[in-house]
Amino acid sequence: MADTFDVIVIGAGPGGYVAAIRAAQLGMSVACVDKRDAPGGTCLNIGCIPSKALLQSSERFAAAQHELAAHGVQVAGVTLDLRTMLARKDKVVADNTRGVEFLFRKNKVEYIKGAARLAARDRVTVALNGGGQRALGARKAIILATGSDSANLPGIVVDEQRIVTSTGALALASVPKHLVVIGGGYIGLEMGSVWRRLGAEVTVVEFLDRVTPGMDAELSAALQRSLERQGFKFRLGTKVVETKAGKDGVVLALEPAKGGVRESLKADVVLVAVGRVPYTGELGLKEIGVALDDKGRIKVDGRFATNVPGVYAIGDAIAGAMLAHKASEEGVVLAEMLAGGRPSLDYDAIPAVIYTWPEVASVGRTEEQLKQAGTAYRAGKFPFSANPRARANGFTEGFVKILADAKTDRVLGVHIIGPDAGTMIGEAALAMEFAASAEDIARTAHAHPTLEEAVKEAALAVDGHAIHI
Ligand code: FAD
Ligand code: NAD
Repeated sequence: MADTFDVIVIGAGPGGYVAAIRAAQLGMSVACVDKRDAPGGTCLNIGCIPSKALLQSSERFAAAQHELAAHGVQVAGVTLDLRTMLARKDKVVADNTRGVEFLFRKNKVEYIKGAARLAARDRVTVALNGGGQRALGARKAIILATGSDSANLPGIVVDEQRIVTSTGALALASVPKHLVVIGGGYIGLEMGSVWRRLGAEVTVVEFLDRVTPGMDAELSAALQRSLERQGFKFRLGTKVVETKAGKDGVVLALEPAKGGVRESLKADVVLVAVGRVPYTGELGLKEIGVALDDKGRIKVDGRFATNVPGVYAIGDAIAGAMLAHKASEEGVVLAEMLAGGRPSLDYDAIPAVIYTWPEVASVGRTEEQLKQAGTAYRAGKFPFSANPRARANGFTEGFVKILADAKTDRVLGVHIIGPDAGTMIGEAALAMEFAASAEDIARTAHAHPTLEEAVKEAALAVDGHAIHI
């Protein structure tokens, strides 16, 4: 006999667990199934949270070595205790995943540990982690929130020791002498930053002729320059055609992306960070006829419905940015739709942040996208070097750029590179959600002295009258 719920969610990542909690808040009976030993998905277990814990720790280490002296704080004999740093990261993860288990209990979501497979459009079979099987039935909906997995390159064998994905890069037992990162995107630059700060030489091999390809080009260029000052080496427009792992490390064969002379590069550890692919293999989608697109993502309509009635999908497993908060917003919207509501989600107002130093944060359109679409816009820019708080803090790199419609002044995009950009982008996302104009931001009083004043000044600059520059 199947245990029956209103909603069964497969996957307890930021998409699935949030959808489950919201559906339960709205009065539905909910089961959430995940095959990991702890909830939270990629993000909490092997993604957002452990990477940010290591970014924070490595930033402290680098600050103690290079920055405190300028503040008149002398520290001698700064050394790295990597085991403690990694153990702290593991504790941060455990605290967070326990938090999700608590939220499941609080909201009466039945959390089931096991691998789920669709038996029919309204039935799921779970191979329980502890052994045995459980059959579940869904009265209203099955939500597929199975996320994504690291993409690999042909001929590269990941062993998570010498050739690693982000998962291995979060747990290296020692600091590699030379880390070669394949892919200059989010993971490559964040994890590259961690190990660079801890003392590794880092070379990033990127296929395209710029890093962070989706970001506004001006930010990408500024980020690359900043990382180069921190000692990163970049090999842009270059592809890895072969890797050979031996006793003394890995030898990579590189070639210009457009073809040409081959050369070799030696590494102690290679991080493969060339994107992520949707993870749907074990669900039995073919058998019940759920359609995928040409990239293997689950096809959904504007209401997250697949082509099979009663089966829905959200998060990394469907099209769109592979970001935790995008998955969570979709989870909330879908749960509310299932409860009969009419919520909406403005994808243009979803921010993206790269947690390097300096941070890079964006929301809305880039200048390249506006140019390509032929949209007339005005740009206002303000550098942190002219912001008093940035000077007081001693971090003056970067700028805020606001792009507004030339006719209506509506904010179309905000791009920030600088200290705490990831926090500051919240104001910009809110402005975009409310369809604010640049003048709305410019006329909003910002506390002094704060870094956020740079956002106000950039908004003033859209109309050509920034005060402090
Ligand atoms: P996931 O979090 O991948 O969760 C899916 C879950 O489904 C998994 O736990 C999986 O075990 C489970 N599952 C799959 N198939 C089955 C099955 N058949 N049965 C049972 N369970 C199943 N995003 C950000 O916004 N900010 C960041 O700072 C950030 N940092 C990241 C750092 C790294 C190193 C990585 C790898 C990713 C990072 N991301 C970040 C991306 C973020 O982790 C994902 O966008 C997010 O986790 C997607 O959520 P999801 O719920 O769709 O899927
Ligand atoms: P990515 O898409 O950010 O970057 C991949 C990079 O690899 C791109 O620059 C791409 O041009 C390059 N590339 C692709 N094939 C290549 C090849 N053969 N040789 C060299 N370079 C190649 O992907 P990622 O860094 O692996 O991260 C995956 C996803 O996880 C991200 O897209 C993002 O959605 C998410 N993520 C987010 C955060 C965050 O929000 N801070 C952090 C980490 C990961």
